[in-house]
Amino acid sequence: MTQTRARILAGNWKMHLAPGEALEYFGSLDKSLASQPLNPGVRRVIFPPAYCLGADVQRAAASAKVELGAQNVHWEEKGAFTGELAAPALLNIGIRWALVGHSERRQYFGETDETAAKRFKRAATSGMNVMYCIGERLTEREAGQTYDVLTRQLTPFLGVLRELLDKPGTQWPDTELWCLAYEPVWAIGTGKTATNVEAEDAHKHIRKVVWDQLGMQVAQKISILYGGSVTPENVSGLMTQPNVDGALVGGASLKPDGFAKILSSA
Ligand code: PEP
Repeated sequence: MTQTRARILAGNWKMHLAPGEALEYFGSLDKSLASQPLNPGVRRVIFPPAYCLGADVQRAAASAKVELGAQNVHWEEKGAFTGELAAPALLNIGIRWALVGHSERRQYFGETDETAAKRFKRAATSGMNVMYCIGERLTEREAGQTYDVLTRQLTPFLGVLRELLDKPGTQWPDTELWCLAYEPVWAIGTGKTATNVEAEDAHKHIRKVVWDQLGMQVAQKISILYGGSVTPENVSGLMTQPNVDGALVGGASLKPDGFAKILSSA
């Protein structure tokens, strides 16, 4: 398949680092990147906790050539939803990326395929870039259900994507980027990365499901990132797989030196 897809390297800080620490982090990242060549064609994004999305941290991130994104976004524009984040308000403060459906949201906060798809819809129709996470658990992989789980998780997302693409005038992906992150749950925070072959195999299946449900053009255009114990040591091997278009990095994104190496790996 032709490689015309956006390449994206992203970090998910989860509930780590406060605003002051984030400012220090981006100062160090900027310094580390000064000695590493960066590919101008790669998008670089960090999803910090919401309290690190203010103007000062955005400026520091921009100096280090990184965009910031929110770890979650609600499906309503506003309302009585304590603890949630509204897409229009995020855009209002300059945040253009949202992470949706992360496995920790699914595991601890009751996120489902359906609520994740609703969040995607709101973020996308508001004009945000979205990174939409899917991935099987260890028991599901061991039971030989990986493909079925991925297909099930993808279907509501692809239903929304179909609706969006059917709207006249939709220029995707020239304006917003809507991408997928394949994050096998057994690889997240465990140090047990999927092998290059396992990652490529799952990404190929995901692209096939997109092709089957939305056609070749969308399948060729949609970027699919791998996430799960990515490190400076294993990122290059993963990134050379034909269907791996980027990486979503948790733990290893918290150290500016190491993350600089990851950011210069593609
Ligand atoms: C993540 O949280 O999205 C992630 C991939 O974490 P880690 O890199 O630590 O496995």
